[in-house]
Amino acid sequence: MLIILFIYGACMGSGLVALADRYATHTSVFYPASHCDTCQTPLVYWQLVPILSYLLLRGRCHYCQAAIPATSLLIEFIAGLVLTTLTPLTVIPVLWLGLWGYAALCDARTQTFPGWVSWVAVPITLPMQSLTVVLITIALLVGIHLLWSHFPNPPIGDGDLEIILSYHLLWGVTATAQWLLTASLMALIYSGIKIRSSFPFLPFLLTSALAWWLFQ
Ligand SMILES: [Zn+2]
Repeated sequence: MLIILFIYGACMGSGLVALADRYATHTSVFYPASHCDTCQTPLVYWQLVPILSYLLLRGRCHYCQAAIPATSLLIEFIAGLVLTTLTPLTVIPVLWLGLWGYAALCDARTQTFPGWVSWVAVPITLPMQSLTVVLITIALLVGIHLLWSHFPNPPIGDGDLEIILSYHLLWGVTATAQWLLTASLMALIYSGIKIRSSFPFLPFLLTSALAWWLFQ
């Protein structure tokens, strides 16, 4: 069962990478079929198998020898690992990781992500909450959406606030503090190495969330 879940997870990871790529390049999800980003040659079935194809191709396009980003292999592997933690009790956290994983992949490329992710990934954490918490969350979510666009230079993105809100609802205060500290430390090290005025924070938040989830 673990092997089957790992295979499904790796396929989903591959799908998330492809979807984020289509979002970043403003192209349709359905057309054209999977192809090499460099030479645009459509890929055949054996070049589309998650993890295995990357290893068979030795990380290079079969036609033009352009390097395939190793991050795709890593994401497929991690998505496979995450899905092996799926049980009837962990459906919501695993779904949460998948949704925000997609947002983080988009954020890494464009510093934006599709707005619908927040409107799905925050509400899925609400069924276990009291009515008061549900109402406060809806007010905060609407408030972030209405107010954030009016800030000239917000120190943090609205998407970052939404993921923090939903993490807190799912895992509580202590876990949120540990998660945020880990993500911030990773971002500090990164920004020290590559000094820049702004960078996507969601990938760090997601990496930290994945590390804590798999560590547990
Ligand atoms: Zn190629």
